[in-house]
Amino acid sequence: MKLPYHAVATVTISGILYMTFKSWGLAVSSFIAGIFIDLDHIIDYLRENGRPFKIKNFFRICHQCQFNKVILIWHGWEWIGLLAAAAWLTDWNPWITGTLIGITQHLLLDAINSIPDLKSLRSYSLIWRWKKDFDFDTLFPKMKNIKYRYIK
Ligand SMILES: [Zn+2]
Repeated sequence: MKLPYHAVATVTISGILYMTFKSWGLAVSSFIAGIFIDLDHIIDYLRENGRPFKIKNFFRICHQCQFNKVILIWHGWEWIGLLAAAAWLTDWNPWITGTLIGITQHLLLDAINSIPDLKSLRSYSLIWRWKKDFDFDTLFPKMKNIKYRYIK
């Protein structure tokens, strides 16, 4: 999902969290996690395209799905399980719980919006991507069509 939509969803959810629980830690960590999880796209961009980092190229490459491999270290269902365990073990520490909420809502919106095919939900698993050698075309077959539309 595109950044402006993530920003709207994240601000809304973080605002609701603050109004409900009156916790800055919960709201701020939800906001940071919900937005900045996408920084892992920069790592993949730099791995495939090298430096210098050019913001215009970065957004074009992401929009056109021009990746051979997708590691996306923070985009993984596994983080939800680990963060839920950490939140529970810390008696629902607001910073950990907010991070859990931010990452969960972000991943759900990414998964729902980018792949209507339920089978592809597993592509948001780090372990699944690893088993598939992080190959973009194998992991996101429907987005592959977008990718090859732009390759001339
Ligand atoms: Zn994302």
